[in-house]
Amino acid sequence: MSGLLKEKLNYDKTFDCVQCGYCLPACPTYETMEKETHSPRGRINLVKMVAEGKATVEDLKEPIEKCLGCMACTTVCPTNVQYGAIFEGAKEVIDEEEAKSKPKPRKLMEDFFFQSFFPSSKWMKSLGNATWIYQNSGLQKVSRRFGLTKRAPLHIHEFEAALPSMPSPKKRKDRASRYVRKRPAAAKVGFFTGCIMDSVFFESNQNTMELLLRSGAEVVFPEEQTCCGALHAHSGKIDTSIELAKQNIVAFEEESFDYIVNNAGGCGARMIEYDALFESGTEWHERALHFVSKVKDISEVLVEMDGLVFEKELQRTVTYQPSCHLRNVQKVENEPLELIRQIPGLTLKELDRPEFCCGSAGVYNIVNYEDAMDILDVKMKDVCGKNPAGVVTSNPGCLLQMKLGIEREGLSREIDSVHLVDLLMEAEPRPK
Ligand code: SF4
Ligand code: SF4
Repeated sequence: MSGLLKEKLNYDKTFDCVQCGYCLPACPTYETMEKETHSPRGRINLVKMVAEGKATVEDLKEPIEKCLGCMACTTVCPTNVQYGAIFEGAKEVIDEEEAKSKPKPRKLMEDFFFQSFFPSSKWMKSLGNATWIYQNSGLQKVSRRFGLTKRAPLHIHEFEAALPSMPSPKKRKDRASRYVRKRPAAAKVGFFTGCIMDSVFFESNQNTMELLLRSGAEVVFPEEQTCCGALHAHSGKIDTSIELAKQNIVAFEEESFDYIVNNAGGCGARMIEYDALFESGTEWHERALHFVSKVKDISEVLVEMDGLVFEKELQRTVTYQPSCHLRNVQKVENEPLELIRQIPGLTLKELDRPEFCCGSAGVYNIVNYEDAMDILDVKMKDVCGKNPAGVVTSNPGCLLQMKLGIEREGLSREIDSVHLVDLLMEAEPRPK
């Protein structure tokens, strides 16, 4: 095997794994698929074998594709194996190998999605506006009535049913790029809007901004910001994800911020690891470290600022489904729970296995639908056991997946799935 391939596969890092198996009970795919090759230990071993020429890239493909990238394995590993780097390296090698034989139309479509669609705020706005037209023109009613969405590929009709109501194009257009305060601000926040959050969950972004304003912060939306690059990295497009990271670093250097705030677990997890994309000692590494030092999830900032009291009693029971990337990569565990507990009247019943992934994992639930549903079924058993009226979460993918899980259980009249910021706004926060 060439040295370059060994390097791309992070061969050196695979030796940190001592094959102890502590990670096995933490891995959702090992639990539902019951195969050693679909466990963290098995995947690491396969990567090592491919790097040594004892197995082929083809052998690696399915086990890596079926990995959720949830990083639950890294939280229990006693030798601190860098599974994330091994996983992304394997994805990159698989993607390069596939590119040689990929049919042209598929390649063109992938290029469009990864290079034009996700990084473009214009395309993202268009997606939100098109969905608004679909929901408000009567098209949605017609297509549901005649079962047209059921004919769409990739189980799109199930995801379509879980979409929230979109705001009008005017409301999107009216959002300013800067919200200053008359009195001195408690903090200056650069808001990272995210692709899916800003197109599909625009109202949650608005609520996030409102919570920051009521906490006493000033909020700026840097215009040159772009996609965080998480989807690209998880699809093996490492070079593009590095370019996106650079663009974000530049965009948030335009002004001096106390915090760079996001409300999507997956985006935040990508951004707090930007420094790992650059060689230590280089200028970009320094700039990335500065960026990373400011990146925070909204729950961390709200707890740190401690500027809100919640006035409205919400007399119901909820449970909390943490985003894997928020919990396992950003290590944000307590802050969302602390905020939920501040809401008067609300009862919080914690899940038995909050660390178990819901099966969303970027586009995993679209490309590996059946496997994702097996994982979701395990999650829903835990959720239903708490008998809640709401599932609170903090990542767009988890939010849609939980809505889907609730639909699948036939409980959409009894249970709702909400983003943490939407729940907090419902409790009518006011400045302290
Ligand atoms: S817990 Fe860590 S060291 Fe042990 S098998 Fe899993 S990855 Fe390897
Ligand atoms: S990232 Fe998640 S699914 Fe993948 S090996 Fe680790 S625990 Fe299993």
